[in-house]
Amino acid sequence: MAAQIKINPARAQKLAANLAKVKARVAAACQRSGRDPESVRLVAVSKFHPASDILALVEAGQRDFGESYVQEALAKQDELVGQDILWHFVGGLQTKKARQVAGRFVLVHSVDSEKLAMELARRAQAQGVLQSVLIEVNMGEEQKAGVDEAELPALAETVLSLRKDGVGLDLQGLMCLPPVFDSPEEAGPAFEYLRELRDGLQARLGVPLPHLSMGMTGDFEAAIEEGATIIRVGTSIFGARPPKS
Ligand SMILES: *Cc1c(COP(=O)(O)O)cnc(C)c1O
Repeated sequence: MAAQIKINPARAQKLAANLAKVKARVAAACQRSGRDPESVRLVAVSKFHPASDILALVEAGQRDFGESYVQEALAKQDELVGQDILWHFVGGLQTKKARQVAGRFVLVHSVDSEKLAMELARRAQAQGVLQSVLIEVNMGEEQKAGVDEAELPALAETVLSLRKDGVGLDLQGLMCLPPVFDSPEEAGPAFEYLRELRDGLQARLGVPLPHLSMGMTGDFEAAIEEGATIIRVGTSIFGARPPKS
């Protein structure tokens, strides 16, 4: 039985207001680009924020939450067991932690190596589940996370081969974390580029890759205009993150 989680009413009000503002901005960006707001899934990235914040947002109607650190994510899942939450894993994932992640997240956004894909698939198969994943693409030289564009087709083929008898991995699309720019407009071309990579991969492999996970607090509107189907927003909803303890 999960412990009682206390919600501070002033904090809950603030979170609900922030969520409403982000949703209004999503709706406006969809309108500008002629898109249905239902086609953009808002993932609230709750890393470093307490379970009480997540619960307050659940009560305000938010369902998708993203976490970046395995231990922290699993602890919150335990605290919030029984709540109507869809958990996303958005952070870098070490192969040795794939076992703890398989089957516990509706979507793993950050598959970036064959080794990780194979281990995640092995763990999903052992549990008899189909784990939905995205491939994270590296969009800048200084970044460590993500697969290089040159290796993307081979990795995508590997991931596709890891679905057997309805279990293993289900490749749903691509994710990126572009370099931080001074203005959101500068991120536009990076998002456009990820969409083109997705389109090319879809044509080459002959499979639908419906999802593009791109856009965060600083640039989610630009991402929506370039076709994001999943945006990952932390700071605009929760406020600044406390330092990692
Ligand atoms: C922290 C994080 C986010 C949210 O970032 P904000 O700028 O706070 O919106 C999104 N995606 C990933 C992968 C993250 O680690």
